[in-house]
This record gives sequence, C-alpha cells and structure tokens, in this order.
Amino acid sequence: MAPRIAVMTSGGDSAGMNAAVRAVAKSAILRGCQAWVVREGWEGLVRGNAEGEEESTDGDATPPHPEPETLPPSVAQPPGTSEARRWRGTYGQGELLREGVGEAEELGLKGKYILRVGWDDVRGWMDQGGTLIGTARCAAFREVAGRQRAARNLISCGIDALVVCGGDGSLTGADRLRAEWPELVAALLERGEISAEQAQRHRHLKIVGLVGSIDNDMATTDMTIGAATALARICEAVDSISSTAASHSRAFVVEVMGRHCGWLALMAGIATGADYVFLPERPPPGDWRADMCGVLARHREMGKRKTIVIVAEGALARDLTPISPDDIKAVLAERLGLDTRVTTLGHTQRGGKPVAADRVLATLQGVEAVEALLEATPETPSYVIGIRENKITRIELMHAVQQTQLVAQRIEKQDFDGALALRDSEFAEGLRAFDVISKIDERELVPQEQRIKMGIIHLGAPAGGMNAATRTAVRYCLAHGHTPVVIHNGIPGLLADSVAEINWLRVDNWTTRGGSELGTNRVLPDSDFGAVAAKLQQHKIEGLLVIGGFEAFLAVKQLNEQRANYPAFRMPIAAIPATISNNVPVSEFSLGSDTSLNALVDACDAIKQSASASRNRTFVVETQGGRCGYVAVMGALAAGAVLVYTPEHGIGLQELGEDVAWLRRRFELDTKGKSEGRLVIRNERASDVYTTEVITKILKEEGQDLFDSRSASLGHTLQGGTPSPLDRARATRLAIKCCEFLTQHALALRKDSTAYGDATAAIIAIRGSDVEFVGAKDMAAQADMKNRRGKTAWWHGLKRLAELMGGRTALKVGEKL
Ligand code: ADP
Repeated sequence: MAPRIAVMTSGGDSAGMNAAVRAVAKSAILRGCQAWVVREGWEGLVRGNAEGEEESTDGDATPPHPEPETLPPSVAQPPGTSEARRWRGTYGQGELLREGVGEAEELGLKGKYILRVGWDDVRGWMDQGGTLIGTARCAAFREVAGRQRAARNLISCGIDALVVCGGDGSLTGADRLRAEWPELVAALLERGEISAEQAQRHRHLKIVGLVGSIDNDMATTDMTIGAATALARICEAVDSISSTAASHSRAFVVEVMGRHCGWLALMAGIATGADYVFLPERPPPGDWRADMCGVLARHREMGKRKTIVIVAEGALARDLTPISPDDIKAVLAERLGLDTRVTTLGHTQRGGKPVAADRVLATLQGVEAVEALLEATPETPSYVIGIRENKITRIELMHAVQQTQLVAQRIEKQDFDGALALRDSEFAEGLRAFDVISKIDERELVPQEQRIKMGIIHLGAPAGGMNAATRTAVRYCLAHGHTPVVIHNGIPGLLADSVAEINWLRVDNWTTRGGSELGTNRVLPDSDFGAVAAKLQQHKIEGLLVIGGFEAFLAVKQLNEQRANYPAFRMPIAAIPATISNNVPVSEFSLGSDTSLNALVDACDAIKQSASASRNRTFVVETQGGRCGYVAVMGALAAGAVLVYTPEHGIGLQELGEDVAWLRRRFELDTKGKSEGRLVIRNERASDVYTTEVITKILKEEGQDLFDSRSASLGHTLQGGTPSPLDRARATRLAIKCCEFLTQHALALRKDSTAYGDATAAIIAIRGSDVEFVGAKDMAAQADMKNRRGKTAWWHGLKRLAELMGGRTALKVGEKL
C-alpha cells in the first residue's frame, strides 16, 4: 500500500501556509504516496471523520496509485479514467478552495476532517493568504484523551506520516503525539478501537514540522513561513504613514506583532528608516524615556520633519515593565512636544497574499518535509524544516521548540544577552546596523588618524536596495567619523567630477526609494583607466564601495588587474551585488532580485486571473534577466507556472512539441467549464528562434479548440518600484559588512602600502549559510564571461522542481525531489 502523508495547519495562520500544503500534497503524489489533508488543525484530527464515513484504508477505493514513472499521465490514456481522477483529485480543480471550507456541507465534507486530496485539489493555492484547510486552537488535544482520539483517527485513515505547519505550540503538540504514540496505540488496542493488525501496521508515527509563524520567532531557523509577508505589510503601512508624518511634522508610534520576538519590529525599523525601535529581547539602555528622547531630539536637530517609532507588542523596559504605544506617545508629547499618533497594525499583519519569498520558502520546505518523512525511521528524531541564509535545514523538532521557549525564559530572567544569543546572526547584525544608521552618537567616532574617505558608486542597471545600501554606507561613515563621498552617474560622473560629500539628512528617505539615487550606467573603468586613477587620486578616495550587477563585478576585477599599473587602484574595493537578474557569479543573492520576484508574481497573479476568467487560456510571460534564468525559474516556482524556459537550458523543437502535447493533455483532463488559465514563463534570451511571439503562436495553433494563447512582456516593470523590505534589510546588512571591510583594509594599507592583494578587491557574497568576501580574481574563475553569469548556480535544479510542481514532468525511478 502506498504510504499516506497528511498535512495540517495549526495555531495562528500565516501567509504561505497554502503554498506549504500544496507543496506537501504535490510532493507526496510525485513520490508515489497518497496525499491527505487534515482540516482545522488538531481540532480536526481529534474530531476525525464522522462515524460510518471513515475513509477506507483500502487503497483501491480511491484512485489507484500510479507508478512513479507514469506521472505525468501518458498521452495515450483517455480522460475519464482513473488517471483523470487522479489529476483532478477527490474534489477536483481546487474545489476545496473555490467553495471554501466554510461551504463544507455542499462538498459533502460535513463531519469530515481528514481527506484525501489529489493534484488539482491544491491548484491555484499558491497566491492565497491564510490557510484554506483551516486552523484552530484545540484544548482537547492538550489532554491525553484528545490525543488518543487523534491517534485513532489517523490510524483509521491509514495515515502514519504527518506534516504539521504551525508555531511552537502546534509543534510541541506534534512532538507529544509522536512521543506518546506507542502508549496511545496500546490504549486504543486494549479498548478494541483498533485491530491488532492496525496496531501492528501503525506502530510508528512519523512527524515533520514546518514553521508557520508571522513573528519569525522560531530559534534555529532564519525565516519562518509568513514572516516575509507580514514584514511587507508592515512596511507598506509604515511607508504610507511616513508621508503623512512628514507632511504634518508628526510623530507616529506603530505597534507591530511579536510577543517574545522583535524580528518584525527590528526589520521594519531598518527597512523603513524608522527612528527608534522597542523590542522584547533588547530593552533600551537605562531609562527608556531618556534614551528615546535623546535619539529623537538629535534627529529633529538634524532637520528631520517626521518621527517614526516602531514597538513590538512584547516590548519591555530593562526592569521588565511592559512599554505600550500609549506610554511612548505620552512621553513624546510631554518631553518633546511632538504631535504624536498611535497606529496599531493588528491583524493586517497576518498578511493576505503571500510575497514571493514566502511562496518559495514554503514550497522548498514542503518538498523537504516529504523527503524527511520518507527517510524517517523509528530511530530518527522528528525534524522541523528550517533555513539558514539560503540553505534548507533539518533541526530536531524538540530542540528547536526548546530553544524558542528558552528565549522567553531568558527575557523573564532579564538575561537579554542570553536571549539574543538564541537568535540568528542576522538578528544581532540587524541590531548593530539599526544603531549605526539611526543613532548620532559622538562616542562611536574613531580617532582622527583612523578616519578615511570612502567613495560610493553605482554601476549597471538600477535594482531595488541600491539606495538603501548607499544610505547605510553614508550613515556608517558619519557614525564613525569617516567621510562619505558619493559619485554620481557612474564612471562618466567620476571623470566629470560629479563627486560630492553627503550629509546625514540627505539620505534619510533613500531606503524606500527604487532606482538609483546616484545615477548609474554601464560604463566600466576600462573606458579610461588613467583618467579614473587620476580622479580617484584627486578626490583622495581611500576605499571604494561599488553597488551594482555584473558590471560591478567587472569593475572590481578590472581595477584589481590594473593595480600594477595604477597605484590609485591599490585601495580596498568592495562590491555589493545588486541586480534583478541575480547573475553575479558565486553570490546566491543580489539586491533587487527579491523586489523583482515580487513584481513578477504580482503581475503573474493578475495575468493568471485574467487567463482563468476567459477559460482555457495559456499565457506566455516574458521576463528580463539577460542570459540568466534566475528570475524566470524562481518566478515560475512562486507563481505556479507550468513551464519555464531559460537561457541556460535553451528551447528545442522536440521539447517544445512535448510541452504542447502535455498542455493539450492537461486541458483535456480539466473538468469542462472549470478550466483555469496556465502560465508559461520565458526568459527574454531563452532562444533566438523560439521567441515569446513564436511560442505564443505555436500554442495558439496547437491548442485548437482546447486552449487559446496570449503573451505578456513584463520588461522593466520587473525593477519593481519600491524595493521589498527584504532587499532593504539585506542591503543594510551587506553595506555595513562592506564598510567594515573597507575601513579595516584601508588602515592596514596606510601602515603598509604593499599590503594590497587580490583579497582586498572583493565582492560580498551570500553562499549557503555564509556571508563572505570573494576576491574578484576568484570570482572570475567561477564566471561564464561570455554569457555574463556564473558557471553554476544553486537554483539550476529548481527549474526541474518548478516543472515537477506544475505537473509537466515526473520523477524518474529512484529520483528524489
Ligand atoms: P502556535 O502553534 O501558533 O504556537 P498555539 O500555541 O495556540 O499556536 O498552539 C496551537 C495548538 O497546538 C493548541 O491549540 C493545542 O491544540 C496544541 N498545543 C499547544 N501546546 C501544546 C502542548 N503542550 N501539548 C499538546 N498540544 C499543544
């Protein structure tokens, strides 16, 4: 009998839970298992299916499980067979979604909480907020009797593998269920509620956790499903508030969620350029009133017209007294005389439509959860799936939960450093970064003789986060006594002396601005090395921060190569990858790619809606990205496209023919009148022959009466307007590291002018779970110069995953997801 994997959502809902359920269900089916869902969290599991209506444990009562190599369906089989049923699932065409679980009766779901689902049952779930299978808080599950009922219901449905997506409460419940499982089974057997054969067959329960939580409060993982969306909603709100605050010269106190975790407050503070943040893990030093007023008064002295304070709901003073938004408002009004308003964002933060990062995270983690279940043995612990920088991880579930609970305990004991130590490195770096960019404190200045002049330049095309990185670098310099010098309009600007010192206030609003405030273009130093050297020398620049895409990497490489000829280039040079194409070699991310993916999924969601409304339509969406398919592949994964064409893979006639045949097959199998639109994503340079227009026409021609085809080119809209909070926060973090790199090496070079080496001309790169500087020379060894991209990239395998999730292709025998 095929293994049965069930997935449920529990506790507070978060954006991306549906993407997780979809990924688990699809992965289970792809791996030859039956996919089940449990509605309404632990409550649904305790209730089970109404008596007499229990799902048969006999696999044949439901569609026969296909051999893995027969997925997707062979073109020979006619619709209406079990194959069609398998695709449609038990309810078909996302029926659970369309009718909503509230309409359960109409679907015959009354009294049924544990359901088998098929491929199309989870169709169109990716862009839905909250959780479509419902969630609940369940007191009964806290009691052993409730867990016994849950065990009986799982066994009667033949399920022995469970994916639980929820917060630390839900995962604690999951751990208890697994730990007690043998006793629960023994009790059920003794009472005759299950047969000896069932007890034997289900003697082990496998559980994997996915963390669905908007607070990002789970220790041991960098991001939880839903946190990025919640942050996006907060930043949208604060960005809007900022303009009214500036108009009236007001102060706003914005309360955000986070009882024991200040991640949302801190990241929102960084991403929106707020003036002050209150977090549970790090109360302000001394008297919070005096500290806050000191900081804010200095900001006003600098000329700021608005004041934004972000406060986590669990904010505390050092003596553990809660700090409420109204307390803060009273202090601001009394001591600083500010016209102050309080905004509580409340449930808007739950997020609604998930951002691209949550969809991708939930999908990758859902896939990993199924793999972890299939690998689990009675001896292996239960895992929770996490992420470190860009690496999906497995952590022992109970360890993760205990570490998370430890944070609250340490806060209670006023051990704030201990609480912070349990947060990931991004959090601690974020705190430091927030201080650097928001505080004006004479005590941070380095001695006169250690101060340098740092040049900042943008190269290549604009990308979200460039301005935030520049703002941070400028503030870093000013906070330490260095002199920030911005170079306008790239290399031509340098040659034309468009070079200026810049002050603290000038960059204040830059974090939320898209494009490039400095101006940028594609001209490289090799346009005139001599003149570039002369200008750098003339402006006495001792360290250069380059922000840009492939051009930034090329510029650092060229300057490094010319150091023998031009002493002016023997200063430290650091680059931050910033390009929507994410084609800088080695680094797994570049600033702007998150913003761009959000723009892409927003556009695709709208296009898909239009395609669905007109029935039977395939949209071919063209993306930018040069010769790098990153945006196309990640976009396909996040938007739920069924096909994706990339320059790395190219497009062949035979493959195109198979794609067309497959699309016809899928439209044939759709329930008549219920067909939804389908998306195909094509990178602009995927093929010179099979252009977007050609593919659209081929699909139209071949679709005949089954489906129609249209195209849409997203072009420069992918630059995305306002940068995403993740790009802004990442920009800040990387900029601080680059400034430290530049100042340290500049001082070393002052002492020993021969100390420059390849390592001092570097690009900051996120690699797996590390952030590190890679010398331009080393990076060049990993670059495919002709195609302007890396020789390899971490996401190459995700094209296949996107197509697997779209149903285009099947796993090969023995292949894992
Ligand atoms: P979250 O999962 O978002 O942290 P809760 O803490 O409310 O949300 O937990 C959700 C559900 O998980 C609870 O209603 C309860 O059914 C179950 N649960 C939480 N803690 C335990 C526990 N210690 N033992 C058993 N079940 C628990």
